[in-house]
Amino acid sequence: MRVRTFGVVAVGVITLAACSSSTSGHGTRLTGPPSASGSSAPQGPPSSGASANCPATYAAPDPKRPKVALQFTVSDDLSTAQGSEHVEFTPDLPITELVFRLTANTAPTVEAGNKIVINSAKADHGGGAPKYDADGAAPSTQGGLLHIPFAAQIPAGTTVSADITFTLTLGNGSFDRFGRVGDGASRYAWFGSAQPLLAWERGHGWHTEPMIQFTAESATSEAMQTDLTVTAPASKTVIMSGDPADPGGTGATKTWHSTVDSARDVSVAVGPFVVSDSIVNGVKLRVGATSADERDQLVELFTLAITEHSKRFGPFPFPSLSVARVPAQGGGIEYPSSILMLDSSKLVAVHETAHQWFYAMVGDSQALHAWLDEAFATYAEELVDNDAPPSSALDMSGDVDKPTASYGDGESAYYSVTYTKGAAALHAARAAAGDDKFDAAIRCYVNANAWRIANPSDLATALAALPAAIAVLRKAHALP
Ligand SMILES: [Zn+2]
Repeated sequence: MRVRTFGVVAVGVITLAACSSSTSGHGTRLTGPPSASGSSAPQGPPSSGASANCPATYAAPDPKRPKVALQFTVSDDLSTAQGSEHVEFTPDLPITELVFRLTANTAPTVEAGNKIVINSAKADHGGGAPKYDADGAAPSTQGGLLHIPFAAQIPAGTTVSADITFTLTLGNGSFDRFGRVGDGASRYAWFGSAQPLLAWERGHGWHTEPMIQFTAESATSEAMQTDLTVTAPASKTVIMSGDPADPGGTGATKTWHSTVDSARDVSVAVGPFVVSDSIVNGVKLRVGATSADERDQLVELFTLAITEHSKRFGPFPFPSLSVARVPAQGGGIEYPSSILMLDSSKLVAVHETAHQWFYAMVGDSQALHAWLDEAFATYAEELVDNDAPPSSALDMSGDVDKPTASYGDGESAYYSVTYTKGAAALHAARAAAGDDKFDAAIRCYVNANAWRIANPSDLATALAALPAAIAVLRKAHALP
C-alpha cells in the first residue's frame, strides 16, 4: 500500500525539502469548472458480450455489506483522539465472535508513540466481555486483535450490532498511518486504520493473521457503508475520506462529516492545510499541503493520475479523492477515496491513485495476497510512466504470492518481491498475452471483483483465455 524510499522501488532518487516548518496558511482555491469532456468515460471491457466473469461495468456493492459509523474527537494539541464506532454486520457464515484488528498497536507504530486503547466494546445478541490477542502487536498494548465473543453461535444472515469506544494516541510523525508534527498553529496530525477494523471476508470468515513487524499492511476488510464524523480544533482543516464540506461556524471546534457508500477503511488528516478543490473528469479532487507550491504540484500530478488510470481501468471508483500532504517523509498511504502523502513525487501520486482501483475497490487480503494490490499499483504506475522494470526482476528469488507476515522483519525482501517482482510479472504476462487482450482481461477482473475481496483464483479466472499470461504469473508463483 505504499512506496518507500527504497532503491528497489526507485524512489530513492527523489529528494524533498524538509516540510516540518510552519510555512502554511489557509485558503481554498477553486481550480476550474467541472470537466465536460468525459475523456475518461468508461469504455467497458473491450470484449463483447458481458458475462458473469466479465460484467460490462463494475459489480454493485453487496447490499448486505457492513455499515459503520465512526466518530473521532481530536484534542486541542492533536495528541489524542477519542473515538467511537458503531457497526452493523450481517455475516454470510455462522459466527461465534466479532473480530476487529487494532492496527495502531503494530510494534514499530507503537515505538513512535502511537497506540489504540479500547475503552469499551459490546455487542447485542449476547455479546460478552471483550478479549484481546497479542497477535504480534507491541507487548505494551492490549494487543492486535479485539474479540467480542457470543454466548451461542449466531446464524448466518443475522444482523449483529456492536459499539466500541477507544482512545487513539498520536506519536512522532514518521512514515506511518499515525503521526503528529509541528507546534501550535502549525501542528499537523493524521491517522488511518485508526478504528478497530472489522476483520471479515465474505466466504472466508475472520482474518486473524499476525501483525507484521514493519509498517506495511496486514489487514483485510470488506467494503462498508461508512459514515465518518471528525471534530477538531476550528483553526484546522480536516482532510478525510468522503470529502466533507467545511462546516463553518465560530466555535472552538468544527465537526466535519462525510459518507462513503462503500469503503474498507478511512483516513483523517488535521492541520493548517493550504487547500485546493478542483474537478477532474467528474471527480472532486481536494488537495491539502503545507504550501501553495506543493499543493499546486500535487493537483497536477493527481489530475494526471486520475485521468490516466481511468482510461485504462474504468471510471474513478469514488465521487471524490481527498489528498493530504502531511509534513513527514517516506511515501504514500492509500485509503478509500483519500490518500496520505508523505512525499510529493509523481511516482507516489500515481501509485497511490492506482490503489483506488486495486485495494479500495477491488479489495484483497493484504495479509495473504498483498501483491494483488501492491504489484498492480506498481504496474499501473509504470504503465503511466512507460517505465517497465527490467525482466531480470523476475529472476529475483521469492514467491510473489506470499503471506506478508512470512517476511518476518524482512521489509526489504517484502517490497522487492511483492512490488517489483510482482509488477515485473504483470508486465511480462501482458507482453506474453498481447497488450490489448491482457488489458481487456484486467478490465473484466476489475469489473467482476469491484467492491469485493479478490483472490488470486479470481485473477486466474479473468485470464483463463490467456494461457501465456497465466504461465508467466505461475512461474513467478503469483498464481496457484
Ligand atoms: Zn502501494
